[in-house]
Formats: sequence, C-alpha cells, structure tokens
Amino acid sequence: MRSEKQQKLKKIKNPRSINLAMWGYFCLLAFILVLLVELVFYIVVAGTFEDKACERVDGICAEAVHEIEVNPNGLNKSIFRYRNEGVNVFLLDESGKIILPAQIDGLTGTVIDGDFINTMKTRIGADGMADVFHYGSDIMKAQKVGYMGEGAYVLVTYSLTIVHGTVKTLQIYLIIVGVIVLLGSLLVTYAFSQKLTRGLKSMSDTAVKLAEGDYTVKFTNADYTEMAQLSDTLNYVRDEVKKSEDFQREILANVSHDLKTPLTMIKAYASMIKEISGDNKEKREKHLQVIIDEADRLTGLVNDVLSVSKLQSNIEEINFKVFNLTELVYGIINRFGYLQESQGYNLMVDIDKDLYTRADEEKISQVIYNLLGNAANYTGKDKTVYISLKADLDGKRIKFSVRDTGKGISKEALPEIWDRYYRVKENHQRPVKGTGLGLNIVKVILQNHAFDFGVDSALGEGSTFWVDFPAVPAEIELTE
Ligand code: ADP
Repeated sequence: MRSEKQQKLKKIKNPRSINLAMWGYFCLLAFILVLLVELVFYIVVAGTFEDKACERVDGICAEAVHEIEVNPNGLNKSIFRYRNEGVNVFLLDESGKIILPAQIDGLTGTVIDGDFINTMKTRIGADGMADVFHYGSDIMKAQKVGYMGEGAYVLVTYSLTIVHGTVKTLQIYLIIVGVIVLLGSLLVTYAFSQKLTRGLKSMSDTAVKLAEGDYTVKFTNADYTEMAQLSDTLNYVRDEVKKSEDFQREILANVSHDLKTPLTMIKAYASMIKEISGDNKEKREKHLQVIIDEADRLTGLVNDVLSVSKLQSNIEEINFKVFNLTELVYGIINRFGYLQESQGYNLMVDIDKDLYTRADEEKISQVIYNLLGNAANYTGKDKTVYISLKADLDGKRIKFSVRDTGKGISKEALPEIWDRYYRVKENHQRPVKGTGLGLNIVKVILQNHAFDFGVDSALGEGSTFWVDFPAVPAEIELTE
C-alpha cells in the first residue's frame, strides 16, 4: 500500500536532484574563485616582480654612471655590493673588453661575446643610453660613459631566473591551495546538501503518513528558517484537513440523525392512520398533516445538503436579473405564515414598497428563507421576529434585516457560525429544520454576489442578520 503511494509520488518528482545541483554550483563557484586568484596573481604579482627588477636595474645603472663621473675608483667596490643583490655591473671598453670589475675571477680583460656587444650598441640611442631590455633570461641596461679619457660602457645585468623561479614556486603553492579549496568545497557542499535533503526527505515521509490518514504526525524540521516555515505550513495543513474530516464525520452523524427523526415520525403516523384514525376524519387530517410536515422537513434537509455541495464546487452559476425584492420577501414571509397561524409566532414587518435589485432571484430567496428560518428557530419566548427591508436615503442601497429576541450569539462563536457544519451543540425545540449548513449557504451565495452581509449580536440581546443589496430603478426590469 505504502510503496504503491510512494510510486505514485515518484512519477511527479522533478528529476533534478538538489544534492547534485548544489554540488555543481558550489564547485563551479569554487573553481571560478581559484581561477580568478590565479589570474590576479599572474597579472599583478608576476608582472610587479619583473617591473621592480627593471626599476632596480635602471637605478643601479644610474648610480654606477654617477659614480664613474664623481669617484671612478669606488666603482669596483660598489660592483661587489651590487653582486650581493644578484645584479652584475660591468664597465666595458669600446671593443667589449671588461675593464671592471677588476681583480676577480680572471674576468678582467675578457671580451664579451661580439654578438651581444652589437645588440647592446644598437640599443643605445643618441643620448648614449639604452632602455632596459631583455637578453636571453636576463634583463639589461647599458649606457655610454667616458672612462680615463676613453669611451666605455656601463652594463648592468640581472638574471630573471630567480624571479621566474619564485613565481613558479608561488604558482605551485597556489595550485595546491586551489585544489585544497576545491576539495574542501566539495566536502562542505556534500555535507550541507545531505543535511538539507535529509530534512526534506523526512518531511516528505511524514507527508506520506499524513496522506495515509495519520493525523498524529508532526513536521518538526527547524534547521533553517524556510524549512521551519514549511514545517509550520504542513502542520497547519494537517490541522485543517483533520478539522474538515471531523466536520464531515459530524455532519454525517447530524444529517443521519435528522433524517431518522422525520422518517420515524412518518412511519409512526402512517401506522396510526392505518390502525386507529383511518375512519376519524379529523384525526386522520391531523396525522396526515404531520406526515406532510415531516416530508417537507426531509425535503428541506436533502435540499440543503445538495445546495451546499453544489455551491461549494461552484457548479451553479449566478444568473443576475432585476427583480422585485419586496415581493420576494413577502412571498417568503407567507411561507412562514403557518408559524403565525398554528404556533403563535409574531412576524413584525417593516418593508418599503417596490424595491428592485439585481441578483440571482432563486439564490437570494434561499438566503432570505434561511435567515428567516434561523430567526424563527432561535428567537426568544415572545416568539417574535422583526423583518425589515428599507432603501437608504439616496435610494442606491437596500438593507434587509431580520431580528430575533433570542439568546444571541457569543463573541467567540460569531465568526464561526458561517462555517460549514457549524452548530451550537445544544438541544432545543426548533420549528424549522436545521443542519448547520444554512448560514454557510447564505455566506457562499452572498460572497458570489459580492454583497455585504453580517450579523450584529451579543449574548442575551438577540441577533440581527443583515444583507446590503444594490437598488436598481424599476424601469430596468422592463427593459431586461
Ligand atoms: P442550523 O441549521 O444549526 O441553524 P445554521 O448554519 O443556519 O445552522 O446556523 C449555524 C449556527 O449559528 C446555529 O447552529 C446557531 O448556533 C447559530 N445561529 C444561527 N442563527 C442564529 C440566531 N438567529 N440566533 C442565535 N444563533 C444563531
């Protein structure tokens, strides 16, 4: 049974899994971030390293040239200082032979490769200076100077191998960090999505139990605000479904009880006519009247149940037409005439002549019938009901109201009386049948018309039910 239901549910399931989607999006995000960091590193860090090296080479060249001009003997010493920074400074003569540094490594007197000297010379402009340039894996700067009365060149070289090596090492570290971040985000997303879907799964399982009719279930997932809201909503749905089911059960019990009473009466009186009163006209008439009344009561009950289900499923449409509301109300009051004649009821009327409205005549007739029926049922010991139908001063609205002198309705019960199947649980004698559906029918019909309606009541002060109709001029009826 359960798996059958779950299979049914599976068919409408969205095939995309939250787990996978979250995983995908998170990893994509992590990947893009790592990529961005690498890019920034290349553009900013690696580039800056090289720029700084060029600036330094340029600076050292200027310092060396200055030293030759002011203190040529000190240059040799400075050259060794520059070497500690990884920068090589040479003083060459015109033919490319090394003049300085002197007395080291046997370099002095060595002639530097002719090709290089030619490249260097072509780089040197008319001002005797070359911009920093690349040669192999080195950056260089050269400037023509005068040394001991002869032409010479200051050559500053710096090997970028170290810079490149540093960049590469940093790059490897970055890749390692990137991979760790990626793996970490994979793990975190996996754990998070598992947690999220576990919560959803448990809610879905609980909902299946609810669908199977277990109203004791409780939706409890409160890890995240949205899930907590969903839990609350589902708990609310559970309560409402349960309430509606209880109501259905109650109405079934009520209706069957209400059906049973008139049926028993009809059977009892029919037997009485057959066995006792058959020949006695007066008694027979009386007994037959009881049967007719009970049959009417049965018809009323069945009609109520049918109308409420029709109304609620909106099968019936509203057929608007202009009609004489005054006549309609009088017609219904006459239907209650038997209460006046046989049961001592007083129906006090205050009704304006020829008031017309535009609505569904049949349904409004049901509204007024139900309201009058209730007033008769619930009015006080004086058995008086006040019915009024009045146009307002500018003749645009018509107010129908029906007042009784009964117990009234408590503040707490007031909003509930319009609910389907609502009935105050107490036994009392009622001249008109009741199912707990009457006011719900009134509400649905008037809401469908978009008419204002309501009740003014307080315990011990009776109740006044009212409806506000739009007034239309009588001539419209003739043209419609
Ligand atoms: P019922 O068939 O029980 O009268 P209704 O839907 O017509 O069902 O009314 C619902 C409930 O509202 C009634 O059971 C009663 O408790 C309350 N009620 C309706 N009309 C009146 C009234 N005029 N005075 C006091 N209580 C009323």
